[in-house]
Amino acid sequence: MDRIDFRSDTVSWPTPHMREAMAIANVGDDVYGEDVTVNQLEALGAEKVGKEAGLFVSSGTMGNLIAILAHTSRGDEAIVGHDSHTYRAEAGGMATLGSVMPKPLPTDQFGQMDLEMVETAVNPDNPHYANTKLILVENSYGMKQGYPIPPTYFANMRHIANKHQLNLHLDGARLFNAAVALNIPASDITKHVDTVTFCLSKGLSAPVGSILCGNQDFIHKARRIRKSLGGGMRQAGILAAAGIISLNQMIERLEDDHRRAKTLAEGLAQIPGIKVAPETVKTNMVFFEIEENTAVSPQELTEILKQKANIWIGSMYGNHFRAVTHYWIQDTDITNLLTLLSELLTQTK
Ligand SMILES: *Cc1c(COP(=O)(O)O)cnc(C)c1O
Repeated sequence: MDRIDFRSDTVSWPTPHMREAMAIANVGDDVYGEDVTVNQLEALGAEKVGKEAGLFVSSGTMGNLIAILAHTSRGDEAIVGHDSHTYRAEAGGMATLGSVMPKPLPTDQFGQMDLEMVETAVNPDNPHYANTKLILVENSYGMKQGYPIPPTYFANMRHIANKHQLNLHLDGARLFNAAVALNIPASDITKHVDTVTFCLSKGLSAPVGSILCGNQDFIHKARRIRKSLGGGMRQAGILAAAGIISLNQMIERLEDDHRRAKTLAEGLAQIPGIKVAPETVKTNMVFFEIEENTAVSPQELTEILKQKANIWIGSMYGNHFRAVTHYWIQDTDITNLLTLLSELLTQTK
């Protein structure tokens, strides 16, 4: 990469191996179902999460939106975490395109909704109320430092969903980060949900794409919805070729990203003027805060890092920052960032 980019794992370029595979990929028209590389990726994706079928989509947002549209009808309600990606960062698609009413519930420090609150949130069958149809969950949980939520939570949600005949969809944009951190197969998590979306384009380093998985009937329906959203792609095998490498070769190495994130957090904790909780870092994200009255203002900091070392960090809001590790972040990049921050923040005003 041309810079050391900690802003997100989405910035990760395809690996050299991916570029080779893309160049020689076998392709066809995927809207006709004739792209063998896409078909192979969809089957592999479904297998990884223990579902019958998969659908290659352009983004995690599209996968989640298709799932919501397939699981609901106009005017239905979806229970969702108040700081989940689907609720806060997908441009309100469930409302604008699905006419679905979100019912946001608070989440705890790990990104979990309270089970009793979820159950209470399910509307009774009464003409006053919207028809509650869907529960949306997320893992790893982006707004909670990428916390990997263990399977029990999803088993509990399954129980509630069964009791009230609701569908359960998992936004697993970083599902494999969660699985690797928990040291379990992803299917231990996904076996509890009806459908799941996961991203190839984040820590798994593919340039584009996500996979939506579920049973055959669901994916049949999802395929039509994808077309209606303009998501029917043609020789998409060029992209799918990279995704196959993501699933075959890039999952286990996520451990390295997690180790580096932990090292970064522990190093940050040693620097005066930085607030961080290394014990909360379980996957590839480090959230930290620069205290007021440090030698360099939070605004100056991101600029100086860019100018001095071509290091980019994520500015969240005010003095809150995020650093995310991925394939293109090496041990030396962690050391360099720590050294620079230490120098900058300990110099006198
Ligand atoms: C990135 C992300 C998405 C959406 O993925 P895009 O491919 O960027 O649309 C959904 N959920 C979570 C938790 C994410 O981090």
